Amino acid sequence: MIEPERIHPLNARPLAGGQYILYWMQAAQRAFWNPALEFAVDLADERGLPLLVAFGLTPHYPEANLRHYAWMLEGLRETAQALRERGIGFVMRLEYPPDLALSLARNAAAVVTDRGYLRHLRIWRRYLAERAPCPVIEVEGDAVVPVETAYPRQAVRASVLRRRIQPLLPRFLLPLGERAPRIRADFAEPSLDPSRPDQILPLLQVDRTVGPVDLPSGTGAARARLLRFLEEGLPRYADLRSDPRQDVTSGLSPYLHFGQISPVEMALEVSRVGGPEADAFLEELIVRRELALNFVWYTPDYDRWEGLPRWARETLQAHAADPRPALYSLEDLESAQTDDPVWNAAQSALVRTGQMHNYLRMYWGKQLLLWTERPEDALRIGLYLNNKYALDGRDPNSYAGVGWCLGLHDRPFAERPIFGKVRPMTLGGFRRKFGGWP
Ligand SMILES: Cc1cc2nc3c(=O)[nH]c(=O)nc-3n(C[C@H](O)[C@H](O)[C@H](O)COP(=O)(O)OP(=O)(O)OC[C@H]3O[C@@H](n4cnc5c(N)ncnc54)[C@H](O)[C@@H]3O)c2cc1C
Repeated sequence: MIEPERIHPLNARPLAGGQYILYWMQAAQRAFWNPALEFAVDLADERGLPLLVAFGLTPHYPEANLRHYAWMLEGLRETAQALRERGIGFVMRLEYPPDLALSLARNAAAVVTDRGYLRHLRIWRRYLAERAPCPVIEVEGDAVVPVETAYPRQAVRASVLRRRIQPLLPRFLLPLGERAPRIRADFAEPSLDPSRPDQILPLLQVDRTVGPVDLPSGTGAARARLLRFLEEGLPRYADLRSDPRQDVTSGLSPYLHFGQISPVEMALEVSRVGGPEADAFLEELIVRRELALNFVWYTPDYDRWEGLPRWARETLQAHAADPRPALYSLEDLESAQTDDPVWNAAQSALVRTGQMHNYLRMYWGKQLLLWTERPEDALRIGLYLNNKYALDGRDPNSYAGVGWCLGLHDRPFAERPIFGKVRPMTLGGFRRKFGGWP
């Protein structure tokens, strides 16, 4: 039922004589259309065991703040409820996630987990796999085409990955069935009550200066949004997706980031519609998104200056001493105090709503080159602001997106001050395209 390319054994231990199969849920925070979960159900049935899902809540998740935790816990409330309705146990504890998985692995016949692409997520999984007394199997369900199947090394641009991914789509764009395990779970493991995020949030010592946003979280909300997008946004997507004045994009990136919706489910729904609109959307959802997965997977320095292509670093360095129109401090930028009204409006909206339209994001990221002393600072500040305020931040797309503003996955353009050969975007150009916005 699950394509073998999605299944990655992380150690070579034999199945143990445990009391349950454990699914350590981390990236794919959903009870539906989740290959890791369905793989764990199959394994539980094969072994005649119940299934326990565990979620470790760490207050030290890199760059996460109250905004991110509040939204995530709201989504997990629904996920825990849906799992219980399927007869699957759910445990959530305030603990370093791989340590929670390890302590529960001691009584498990096997551990199944989902795939995380960022550095710390890979370290967590390796930590568990090296110490668990049983097999640890990772199932990759948050990419349409598994990252290593798509391409065995870093793809320098989208066209390279597109050529590889397109012929593979019929093999990986498949529906995923769901069923309840034969043995219903009846665990008495201690757990936080996932139905009470209001009681859990005060326990977390996290940055509270970035508050929650008014956007419903969870798989149900994601699916409702997808339906609305199919009716209202998709018919205009090919023509208007780059216009920040229009509300035509799906707005699903936070749900994808927290694994509340499957990209395969989204892609299949959109494919059913067909036509140039669907093609334009699938280009973003599959090729562009999976180019970001490819980038962080194969680039150890994905969040550092050294992760940018050599030509981009060289040209930006060659123009590092060019006079800047203004230099702004991090405080100026964070509080949207520049002389550029478009940039200020975009930054203020990001702080307030946790979201920014893709075209504005490109403009926003590129302007940082004009206002920081060194191009390295533009990368650092771009990532800092994006990851702090964006609900979908701290994602492979965050590193690829900010990197793109500095030449990643792009080609050299005619040389000009400050930008060098990196594709420029200017306030004049923005105004010519979009008139008086905002
Ligand atoms: C400076 C900068 C920072 C960015 N930071 C993030 C980030 O932190 N998190 C994030 O998810 N995306 C980021 N992006 C990519 C893109 O802006 C968002 O994915 C998109 O705006 C999300 O809106 P949507 O869900 O309505 O997209 P839609 O247009 O509805 O597209 C559907 C999905 O396709 C994917 N997608 C769309 N556009 C892109 C793109 N250009 N590159 C990669 N994937 C894409 C996303 O997963 C998106 O949810 C960034 C881009 C830039 C230029």
